[in-house]
Amino acid sequence: MNLNLNDKVFIVTGGSKGIGEAISRAIAAEGGTVVIASRSKGETESMVKEFQQAGLKSLGIVGDLQDTELCKQVIEDTIDHFGRIDGIVNNAGLNDGASLESGPEAFRKSLNVNLHHYYDLVHYALPHLKESKGSIVNISSKVALTGQGGTSGYAAAKGAQLGLTREWAAELYPFSIRVNAILPAEVMTPLYRKWLDTFPDPTAKEADIVSKIPLEKRMTTSAEIAAMAVFLLSDVSAHTTGQFMIVDGGYVHLDRALT
Ligand code: NAP
Repeated sequence: MNLNLNDKVFIVTGGSKGIGEAISRAIAAEGGTVVIASRSKGETESMVKEFQQAGLKSLGIVGDLQDTELCKQVIEDTIDHFGRIDGIVNNAGLNDGASLESGPEAFRKSLNVNLHHYYDLVHYALPHLKESKGSIVNISSKVALTGQGGTSGYAAAKGAQLGLTREWAAELYPFSIRVNAILPAEVMTPLYRKWLDTFPDPTAKEADIVSKIPLEKRMTTSAEIAAMAVFLLSDVSAHTTGQFMIVDGGYVHLDRALT
């Protein structure tokens, strides 16, 4: 199936590590132009170089998206280089464990690192998305539906991303802009590895989690999240909007008696 991403331009935040890296690679594999906006300097520069050496157009913008001015610059630089924006994948974020005990300042910090740039980028990109009839994909989390305990800020941000997905789908359908969310559950990434390593026995913890994932008793791969993302970015999903795609091997919804 041709996803028709050739000559189209997509911004992927946090697009050089973990799930974002897989999404950038999936877009590139379809011949699309990837703009990576991330604070991971080395990874971003080397991925952009790799894409360019493969004959693809690509751009890296390094910085922390908590800075609204950077969000504005990401959009301006993308337009300066490529003249259009066909989609945004809001993906950058982290589960920072800002809990009820952590206090108001930690809570606000968590919203800033996880939520505000999702809004800011789409705000600044809006005229260009209207022109291209673009697609927005918000990477949320199962935590928005299940909670986790000890992570109020992240849970609030991930829930808000689902609210914004429906809200933007409602606001933007007159422009044929589609907005969807993907909710991963357990995906091995640098961030996930770091979290596992906080347990006294990371191997036992990983085995315990995996044993509760119904489909094939394994984690979802980043590539499986990316496959859903490129589907949602492409014309193939032209009548899909306002949806929450839970790509998790049945972890959140299947009968617990199965595991
Ligand atoms: P990851 O391995 O840490 O990759 C995320 C990338 O985004 C990193 O390069 C990170 O830089 C960057 N980033 C984070 N905040 C940023 C900011 N404010 N400005 C610029 N760059 C920023 O994480 P991941 O596991 O792939 O997670 C990606 C998304 O999936 C997140 O939204 C996460 O909540 C969601 N998710 C993941 C899982 C999972 O199982 N992995 C499950 C549910 C949801 P640093 O390395 O400097 O932080």
